[in-house]
Formats: sequence, structure tokens, C-alpha cells
Amino acid sequence: MVERDVMEFDVVIVGAGPAGLACSIHLQDLCARHNEKAAEGEPKLEPEILVLEKGKEVGAHIFSGAVLDPSGIQELMPDWKEQGAPIEAPVSSDATYMFKEGSSKKLPFQPKVLKNEGKYVISLNKFVRWMAEKAEEKGVNVFAPLAAKELLREGEIVKGVRLADAGVDKEGNPKSNFEPGADVIGKVTVLAEGSRGSLTKSLVADLNLEGRNPQVYATGVKEVWEVPKDQVEAGQVIHMMGWPHEKDVFGGGWIYGMGDGFDGGRLVSIGWVTGLDAKRPWSDPHRYFQLSKTHPLVQKIIAGGKMLDYGAKSLPEGGLFAMPKGYGEGFLLIGDSGGYLNGMKLKGIHLAIRSGMLAAQAIFEGLLDAAKKGEEITVLSAGHTKRMHDLFEKDWSYHELRLARNFHQGFEKGRTFGLLNAGFAMYFGGKGFLWSDGLSNKASHEYMQKLPSDGKPDLPKLPGLGEITFDKVEDVYVSGTKHEEDQPCHLVITNPDLCVTRCTEEYGNPCQHFCPAAVYEMVDKEGGGEKLLLNPSNCVHCKTCDIADPYQIIDWTVPEAGGGPGYRLL
Ligand code: SF4
Repeated sequence: MVERDVMEFDVVIVGAGPAGLACSIHLQDLCARHNEKAAEGEPKLEPEILVLEKGKEVGAHIFSGAVLDPSGIQELMPDWKEQGAPIEAPVSSDATYMFKEGSSKKLPFQPKVLKNEGKYVISLNKFVRWMAEKAEEKGVNVFAPLAAKELLREGEIVKGVRLADAGVDKEGNPKSNFEPGADVIGKVTVLAEGSRGSLTKSLVADLNLEGRNPQVYATGVKEVWEVPKDQVEAGQVIHMMGWPHEKDVFGGGWIYGMGDGFDGGRLVSIGWVTGLDAKRPWSDPHRYFQLSKTHPLVQKIIAGGKMLDYGAKSLPEGGLFAMPKGYGEGFLLIGDSGGYLNGMKLKGIHLAIRSGMLAAQAIFEGLLDAAKKGEEITVLSAGHTKRMHDLFEKDWSYHELRLARNFHQGFEKGRTFGLLNAGFAMYFGGKGFLWSDGLSNKASHEYMQKLPSDGKPDLPKLPGLGEITFDKVEDVYVSGTKHEEDQPCHLVITNPDLCVTRCTEEYGNPCQHFCPAAVYEMVDKEGGGEKLLLNPSNCVHCKTCDIADPYQIIDWTVPEAGGGPGYRLL
């Protein structure tokens, strides 16, 4: 038995990303506006709000270049620009290319959903750091690094979170610097922990919160480069589809021209997204990305440049019908944790911010209702948290997601069908080619097929290693990823025997391929045969393994606070 400190707050928000920070900012604004106008005798609200961030600082786990649809931030903070929101550049041009190996074709027109006029290229890393400053100015407690390890629950009621212990050795024994993680109690716990969050995963499974479709994911792998200025404009937006993906693989890439670099050049965000519903067990998001950089169009942009940072993250691509039920006794799910991402528009930040605002409105009304009745509540009831769901169904964010509800599912029949389906959906209220109100999908890992009888094909070596392309270890090195080495492995494999028996034979150990950080390696075992070697210190917290493992025996759990990538202000 370990004695733990107990910290009490009104609102506990797990994750200092755009959703969690927007929730804290909007709740403070709503309370301030209410308190200013409150008539005499009317209760005032001054909730204690805590935002927990597991990275070593806010932004450490949030990587750089993105195109911001300003609709979310505009509502959260109408004077966001005057308040100094960091913008790399307004979007200056837009183009989409279909790639074939060695050649490309520019689409003669930009599809409506990919038009980025009026939007902004930002560094999300800088943006969340700025949002955290704004939240703190309003009195929100933003604490980093503090990692929420497990939910404190009584049956279906969420009462807060338990923080990860510090100073535990590999075998699970306390070291001299052992510090038990505190129990953080809240009237409402808002999970904004990103895509495939570990707390969200357990809650969704235990309380059967899964949506009509299971969530389906993709993994985005990206690098920031500094390149000569005449090779890309600030605000230039390029999207790519096709090669090196095979026709049945979902995804595509981007190039975003950012602000000035450190050496007189231009920063540019380059990346590639690969569906985790890929059929080939050797599907490798990092490899596809590296190959995409060898395409002449991309090479021209990065020639003579220098790679500065690397990162990866999973993305919830399932859309409206894959969103879990996002509320219950004492909890709300927002941002990527709640599935707020528009895959058709390739955007999620505005929806993350909006979901945080809707959660804040529901919490505000719940706390005010209790205060007016003179009730001392310990948990915000499902009746109150459901308000977020009701608000969402009437909101523009719902209508936007409804128009994209069949987007990802259309790609189950291949790229050509997926694109036709998306084009059709744009003009027919989201119904898509099959004129369906809601196409279904399986969970990502269920799409993986077993190895063909002649085994995995020999994949050609990546060309240009060290100049244009990098292996996973080189990339992880620049991401600044670090973990305390002497701690229990945060990647829990619940049936390790299966890895070297069935998995080797049936799938060829796909974890070696889909992990973009070389965490999983099959190595020779003394006495013959192979064993699985884990390098958990390399983990960039993308959660791909937890999602894509075909047997679902990998559990990504939260390591000691402060571990993980150390993404920089790029
Ligand atoms: Fe991503 Fe899992 Fe690899 Fe970590 S171990 S980098 S979460 S795939």
C-alpha cells in the first residue's frame, strides 16, 4: 500500500493540446462573463481548473506544421491575432498532385474541401504554447510534466485520475527517488489526451462507449526541413496522393511552407499519412514517407536543405459514426480522443478547439445549476455532461462532420472509388457514391491480411539514405525523444509467446514495420530462433502499435512523466 497525496480540483483536463486548452480558456471566459453580470444574490463561479500535460513541457508532444482553419480559434478568442497568436503565414497558394513513380500530375482544379484560402500555416507546437500562456493568464493551472496513468472510477463514475509514479525501476521496485503519483480528484474529468489515448481506450471499452463504427486510424509521419527560400513560399500548400502508396492504401502527403528558418532559409513541414487499415502486414508509414521524398517534385523542394525535426502521430479517421459516446458520469471526451477530425478536409485543430468549447459550455451550465440549487456536488452528472452532446448535434462542427461521414469508408474499395465517393459526397450532402447515410467499417487491425504463402517480398533499399531519406533511428534521434531508461516498459505485451509463434508465421511480426520509431526488433535468440526486443526509449507516443497489432496484445501505457518526444519550437 502506498500513501498518495490527494489534490482536488473542479475540472481536471488531461492533455494540453488545442482541445484541452480551449476547454479551459472558454470555461474561464464563461465564468468571468457570468460573474460580471451576476445579479445580487446570484452565485458566482470560480472553478479550479487543472490541465495535465505528460510531455516535459507544453508542446513537447505536439509537432509543428499544420494548416489552421480559423473558425475554431475565432470563436474561442475573436481577437486571437491581436493577442499574438503565432502564425507562420496565411495560405498563399494551394495545389494537389497525383503522384506516379517519377512523375506527377497537378489536378486542374482544387477540390472544394481542399481549398485553403483564408486559412493559415501554423506551427501547432508554437500555437499550443501560446494557448497555454493565455490559459494561465486567465488563472488555469497548466502543469507539466504530470502524466495521468489511470482513471479513478467507481463503476461508471469517473472521479479523477491517478498520476504516474516516479522513480520505479525496470522490475517495478521503488528507487531512492520514488514518488507516488497523486490522486487528482475532479467533479468532471475531460479527456483530451489525443488519438488513441490510453485512458480513453479503457473507458470506451469498459463502458461500451464505441460509436456505430469502431474508430479507424492512420499514422502521419513528418519532418521539418530548412530549405533555400526560393524553393518554397511561406504559406504555400501542396497535397499529394498516389505513389508510393499502392492503390488500396489510404493516405497521402503534404508540404507546407512555414516561416523563416535559422540559417537564412525557409522552414517547411513535409509529411505523409498512411492508413492503419492497410492490408499488407509489412505496411510501414515511415518507409512510405521516406520514399515520397525521393519523388522529383519533393526532391526539388528539399534539395540543398537540412532536416531539423521528426515526429509521428496517429489520427482518428473514422468520422462521425466512429465517434465514441463522449460523455457520462463525471467525464467528457474531446479533440482526437473524441474523434473530432475531418479526414476529408485533412483538418482537426478547429474541431478540437470547438469540442473543447462545447465541453466548457456543458461544464459551466452544470456547475451553475448546482450552485443555484445550493448543491455541493462531487461529480457532474451524465445529465449535465450530455449537454455537450446536445450542443454538438446543433453545432456547425456536427454538420461539417456529417458531410464527411462516408469519406474514409469509401477508400475501403480502393483509391479511385474513395476519391469518386468523396467527390460525390461533396455535392450530395455527404451521402457518397453508394448513396448511404452511413457506410460501416471494421477496426483498423482487422484489415491486416496474413503473409502470402511465399512470404514478405524483398523491399528495395531506400535510396539516398542520409541525404534525403533517413532510417527510423536517425529520425528518432532528431525528435529529441528520451525516457528514463530504468523504469517498467510502458509497452505492455500481454502475450509475448504469441509474438514468436503465431505472429512470426502468420504476419511476419508487423510491429517491426508499422512502428515509426524502431521500437520493435526481432533478434536472434541464444540457442536458436528469434525473440522480440523492445527499445521503449525510442517511443514517440504515436500509439500505432496499440492500434495496428493484429492480435491486439500491445497495450501502450503512460510512462514516467516527461518521457517521450521533445518536439521543438519549429
Ligand atoms: Fe508509436 Fe508504438 Fe512505436 Fe511508440 S512503440 S513509436 S507508440 S508504434
